[in-house]
Order: sequence, then C-alpha cells, then structure tokens
Amino acid sequence: MTDTAIAPKKEPRLPPIQVARGAGTGASVPIESCQACGESRLETVLSLGYMPPVNQMVHVGTVPRQQPWFPTTLLFCPACELVQLGLAVDPVIIFPPDYPYTSGTTRMLRDNFADLCAESAALLQLKPTDLVVDIGSNDGTLLSNFQKAGFRVLGIEPTDVGKIAASRGIPTVQRYFSADVARAVQTEHGAARVVTAANCFAHIEDVHAIIDGIAAMLAPDGVFISESHYLIGLLDRLQYDTIYHEHLRYYSLRSLRKLLAMHDLDVFFARPIPSHGGSIRVYAGRRGTRPLRPEVEAMIAAEPHGDGMRQRLAAFRDAVMLSKLRLYALLHDLKEQGARICAISAPSRASTLVNYVGLDEAIIDYVCEIEGSLKIGRYLPGTMIPVVNERRLYDEQPDCAVIFSWHIADELAPKLRANGYRGKLVTPLPVPRFL
Ligand SMILES: [Zn+2]
Repeated sequence: MTDTAIAPKKEPRLPPIQVARGAGTGASVPIESCQACGESRLETVLSLGYMPPVNQMVHVGTVPRQQPWFPTTLLFCPACELVQLGLAVDPVIIFPPDYPYTSGTTRMLRDNFADLCAESAALLQLKPTDLVVDIGSNDGTLLSNFQKAGFRVLGIEPTDVGKIAASRGIPTVQRYFSADVARAVQTEHGAARVVTAANCFAHIEDVHAIIDGIAAMLAPDGVFISESHYLIGLLDRLQYDTIYHEHLRYYSLRSLRKLLAMHDLDVFFARPIPSHGGSIRVYAGRRGTRPLRPEVEAMIAAEPHGDGMRQRLAAFRDAVMLSKLRLYALLHDLKEQGARICAISAPSRASTLVNYVGLDEAIIDYVCEIEGSLKIGRYLPGTMIPVVNERRLYDEQPDCAVIFSWHIADELAPKLRANGYRGKLVTPLPVPRFL
C-alpha cells in the first residue's frame, strides 16, 4: 500500500509559545494563543456566558453550596482555523473521579463503536497479535468490541468509570493520559497497531503533548483513529449545546489535518459518523506510509474556510441567540396555559442548554433518565432540576416533555410513545418544535 502514498505538503512545526494549561491550577486559565499553532490574534465567535462544569452534579437534598462558574466563549484562530474554547479549566474539576458518564448507555454509541472496530480491522488488516490502545476508554465499550474480535486491548481512563471496564475484563490504566503514561504503556505492552481516541481528543489540554504521546506508542505502521465532534455538523445543526468546558477544540477536518501534520502524522481517511449529533472519524498514519484516500480532499473542499468560515460563524452566533428566544417563547406559552413540563435525558449538553436559556426547576419539574443511570438522584448542573427515574414520566403524564438529547430524538420518541407517554414532545434545537 505504501508505494502509492501521496504525502501532503509538510506543514511547518509551530509549537505554541505559550500553552494555556488549567491542570494543577485548581481553577482555570484563559486561552490567549491558539492551542494548535500558537497564533495570538484569536477572534471571538460567540459567548454563552458563565457555565458550571457539566459533570458536577450535586446529590438531591444536599444543602446548596458555592459552585464554580466559568466563562464559556468560542474563539476562531485565523491562522490554522481551529475553533476553540476560550478557557482551559483544570481537568480535576471537569473530570472528577465520580464522573457520572458511561458511554455504554446509548445504543447509537454502542453501534458506532462496533462499526469502528469492524471498519478499522478490515481497513488496516489487523492481526490477532495487534495491540489496540484506547485513550479515554471510559467503561470499555469500544475496547470490548476489539477484545471480542480477538485483538489485544488496553484502556487508559482517569476516572472511576475505568473500574467498570476493568471489572469486565478490559485491562485499564487509571491515569490521565500523558507522555509518561505513553512511555510506560510502550515499555510494558509493546507498540500499538491502533490508538483510538473517541470523543476525548478534543478534551485533553496540551494537545501537542498528547499527539506526541500517541505517536510514541504507535508501531511504524500504526494508525491513530480519532472520533471528534465535527465543527461543520455543530454549525449546521446549531449544536451550541455541545459547547462546554470538556470540549477545548472543535475540529474541522482542515484544522485537524494541520494539527496532526505538525507531528508528521498524515490523515489518509476520514468520514462523517452520527455520534453525538455529528462527528468525524479520522485515520492518520506516519507520514508517507499510506495512500491518501479521496474522501479526505472531498470533505475538506466542502468545508467553509477563511472569510467563508468567518461569515458562517457570525451566522451561527445570530442563530444561537434566536433559538434561545424561540425556546423561551414556546415554554412561556405552555406555562401561561398552566402546563406541567418535564425533560427527557440529562446528557452533558443539557447543562449548556438549561444554563444558557435560563431554565430552572419552576419551568422544568424534573429530568428523566433510564433505570440504572448514575445521574438519577442528582441535580442538573447549575440548577435545582432533579434527575429522576423515567418511570415518573409514565406515572404522572406531565403535559409536555422537552427532549434534551434531541440529537437522538428519532431513537427516543418512539420508545417514549411505546412505553405509554401521552403528552406533547418538544425538541429544543435546531428550531424548537413539537414533534
Ligand atoms: Zn491556530
């Protein structure tokens, strides 16, 4: 496969002069130069105001105490076109050890991980002795696919959710990923044929150290596969609710390719996937080791860039503001009629939505999660809206239910009806509407 390799022009390596790092501060640090290229003239795209960390969910019944709120601003780098958050919050605050998120709970994510395993095993012609390392391995859902397919696996996960993976027989290193961890893994387990980072590659600060660590773990023919929320999908479907402090970077394929190229990694295949309302799966190998597939140039050619991207971002800002006012108007009309309103599911994105729009427990009585969710019995961040077992929805039949995980409304709405909910269903984005 290597003889037809077409390597893109080598990008100059521009290490940031000053990398904003929240880690160890116990608080946060403003991002004053681009996380990817070091450019200092960053342009403000949008501000959502101040937000609480999305995964700090206080137990119901706890006496309210002070909680941190952080400015939530989106910036655009005119040099490398990376869209990024304006603040790096200490990971200890964003990913507390009791982080209540497990990736195995959504069918779409489980299906996606099965697909990632099957696709990469075929595309890369993986052999049973090959090692697959997953960074941010969560509850081991992705690696369990590779393990079942017969490959050696290793997860790296900083939170206690890693213990769930370990109890399922997925070897898991419970640490924040770093160059040290990469070296230790390489020494103990050998080089990785595949390193995956699904929905965490946009999360970890000091992205250059992370990519260096990944490159250090990779075998010469190794491949790094990342799945990240896709900027273009975010803009097209007005998913401002996916903007929160865990997500430091919002990649277009153009900006991600530039970033990886700074580490001599070439993107050779990429495609859109449905996860989290629109993501990209991107394959990168060492420079010149693999033929470049046509999908890459096609995707990049379809992305807005330069002034086109600036205009797209300005239109996004206006649309976000209007959607807030529209949702408020819709809920206002329901409340004037005396309606009882609840909400369906409490993903991280619900925190941005309720706090940006200004919803509280007087408007939304409660949020329903399915049996077994670790979020039941806690409040939505920044509010006193309790998360309850979804049985309450069927028992109480509130007049209206707002689907906070609106990006999977097609999957959820038929289930809610089949289980007997008779009230109105509302999706809040991209345009608030009754289903
Ligand atoms: Zn930049």
